[in-house]
Amino acid sequence: MKQILATLLFVVVSFALATAQIAKQADHMVPTGKGWAESHDNAPARSAGTATTGPNGINYHGGPLLNSTGGTNVYYIWYGAWSGNTATTILTDLATGIGGTPYFNINTTYFDGNNVAVANRVNYVTSTSDNYSQGKRLTDAKVQAVVFNAINNGKLPRDSNAVYFVLTSKDVAETSGFCTKYCGWHTHGTSSGTDIKYAFVGNPDRCPSACEAQSSSSPNSNPGADGMASVISHELEEAATDPDLNAWYDSSGAENADKCAWTFGTESIAGNGSKYNMTFNGRNWLIQQNWVNAGGGYCAKSY
Ligand SMILES: [Zn+2]
Repeated sequence: MKQILATLLFVVVSFALATAQIAKQADHMVPTGKGWAESHDNAPARSAGTATTGPNGINYHGGPLLNSTGGTNVYYIWYGAWSGNTATTILTDLATGIGGTPYFNINTTYFDGNNVAVANRVNYVTSTSDNYSQGKRLTDAKVQAVVFNAINNGKLPRDSNAVYFVLTSKDVAETSGFCTKYCGWHTHGTSSGTDIKYAFVGNPDRCPSACEAQSSSSPNSNPGADGMASVISHELEEAATDPDLNAWYDSSGAENADKCAWTFGTESIAGNGSKYNMTFNGRNWLIQQNWVNAGGGYCAKSY
C-alpha cells in the first residue's frame, strides 16, 4: 500500500512538472522537485512508468509526441512592451524558417510506439499581444492564464497540435526562477478538454550573463532576441519530442535539448563580430545543439 501510494504520488508529481532550459550558472543547483533546476548532474527523476531503454542515451516512456505529418504549429504571445523591438521580426523569422532545416531534422530521430517520427515541419500560424494582463511579476499559474485567456478570448485558436510561446519583455519577471534557475521552460495543461502545450521564454536582456550566449553583439544585432532564439528552439524541440513530459528523456530526466544545452558546435564570425553557428531564412543564428537519437546518440546542429 505504501508503495502504491508512493507510486501514485510520483505519477501525480511527474504530471505537474514543467521542464526548463537551465540558466548558465545553474548547473549544480539542488533539484527543486519541480523540474526547474534539472541539470546533467542532478535532475529529478520524472516518471514511475517503464522506459524502453534505447541505444542512444535517451529513452521512450510511452507518451505522445507532436508528430503529425503536417508538422507542429507555433503561436506567439508577445507579453508586455515589445513595440519598436526588432525581436518581433527576428523571432517570427525563426518560427517561419526553422521547419525543414537540417537542424530541426534532428527531431525526426524521435518516434512514438507506432514508429511515427516527428516531421521536419513547423508551421508558424499567428501571434497576439498581451498588455500586462497579469502584471509584471508572473507566476507559473499566470503564464498559463496568459495562454488560456488568449484561447478563451478567441485571440488564438484552441490547438492541441501546437506549442504556444509566452514571450515576455525584459521588464517582466517570472517568479519561479527566470534568470536564476532557468531561461525558459515548457509544459502542458488542459483547457476545455484540450491538451495545450505551452512555453515561457523571457527576454534575457534582463539577465545577459545567465541567459545569453553572447551579450555585447549578436548575429541579428539584438542580443536579447538572439538569446531567445536559442531558448525557443530548445523548448520547441523538447515540446515536439516530449509534449506531455512522458515521452523522450534520459535516466536523469533530461530531454533531448537539455542534453546539449549551451553547446553550439563549430561557430563562425559574422560581419559585426558576433558568433553564429547556423543560417536559415536569410539570417545567421547562434542556436544550441540538439541530441540525435541515432548512431549511439550525440549533440549536433544538423542531421
Ligand atoms: Zn530543456
